[in-house]
Amino acid sequence: MNHILSDRINNLATSQTLAMAALARELKAQGKDIISLSLGEPDFNTPDFIKEAAKRAVDENYSTYSPVDGYGELKDAICRKFKRDNELDYKPANIVVSTGAKQSLYNIAQVMLNDGDEVILPAPYWVSYFEIVKLSGGVPVEVPTSIDTDFKMTPAQLEAAITPKTKMMWFSSPCNPSGSVYNREELTALAAVLEKYPNIYVVADEIYEHINFSGTFCSIASIPGMFDKTITVNGVAKAFAMTGYRIGYIGAPEFIAKACTKIQGQVTSGANSPAQRATITAVDSDPSVLKHMVDAFHSRRDLVVGLLKEIPGVKINVPEGAFYVFPDVSSFFGKTLRGTEIKNAMDLSMYLLAEANVATVTGDAFGNPDCIRFSYATSDDILKEALKRIKDALAA
Ligand code: PMP
Ligand code: GLU
Repeated sequence: MNHILSDRINNLATSQTLAMAALARELKAQGKDIISLSLGEPDFNTPDFIKEAAKRAVDENYSTYSPVDGYGELKDAICRKFKRDNELDYKPANIVVSTGAKQSLYNIAQVMLNDGDEVILPAPYWVSYFEIVKLSGGVPVEVPTSIDTDFKMTPAQLEAAITPKTKMMWFSSPCNPSGSVYNREELTALAAVLEKYPNIYVVADEIYEHINFSGTFCSIASIPGMFDKTITVNGVAKAFAMTGYRIGYIGAPEFIAKACTKIQGQVTSGANSPAQRATITAVDSDPSVLKHMVDAFHSRRDLVVGLLKEIPGVKINVPEGAFYVFPDVSSFFGKTLRGTEIKNAMDLSMYLLAEANVATVTGDAFGNPDCIRFSYATSDDILKEALKRIKDALAA
């Protein structure tokens, strides 16, 4: 029946992160002992003081529509957060609150891109960037990086990818899926290239800002010359273990914020009202309240990297943030393992699901066909068991 559906949807790829998570859930329901390292979602509960704020919001009858761009009190709190953590002086008129950072990104694409506008995506990139750009008429231009440069785009690569049609550059730091964190010097060097192209706008996705073991964090909007052409995207899903609350936000030049509000007003209206109230408490809290979660991710990172290094044929960098590892598994391509030929990362990911009962996500979905992604947002015991299974399956 696909011919009844629009070309738009027929041309859209399914989100591979969500598809693998759904497949793992389905196999589990059939009684299989699946370990899912597919979905990037903290395994912690939302901190109690934020839950209390959500409950209070329900009791205080925050049950009506909020302003489309978010409650004023929340936008004020987000401005304080940007100042406190990022040296960014956004005003409430620069802020738009949305139903997750995913909607923030979709809004941006919809309001910024005309058909044929090119968007530079340093690869690996987060899975949905590519499809959101395409869905909005844009043309994703992938800039491949590899494990040898810690999966970071160099200024020369950025410059080489720019054409007269380049409208934007989108990236995440800490990066999903590579975990790489761009430091101030690296961002300054990229900004020096962009200085020559004043019409190119940047989307800086900082949703993993607090899950960062590098000891430094820099927002590209804080580099001189970048503030007026950067849209800073953030949200509470990852740091505050609030994925289901569905609150994301942007800090952007006012004309872009207004445009995002306009599209949101026609599509979804303001984000969930009680969740917005809980988010005021979250963003106003000192990042030290997240320490127990960040410390756990840090030690799991060390555990997983250590275990992966013991597997012959797996090449791995040391991710500095987020909660993913993105090993290069290309040495297995062309091999036949238990009667199945592994031609690419997708085959290897499916082999691990079938043979090791471990769900991962193929690197193709992130623009890197040599790698697969594991989320390590789960307990040490589960990670040890998963890595043991993977090691055995690959030893075959
Ligand atoms: N950006 C990145 C890099 C992500 O990993 C995610 C994952 N959820 C999002 C955006 C979307 O976040 P949200 O859940 O707030 O929509
Ligand atoms: N961002 C997470 C991931 O990459 C959640 C899934 C999604 O939203 O795609 O796994």
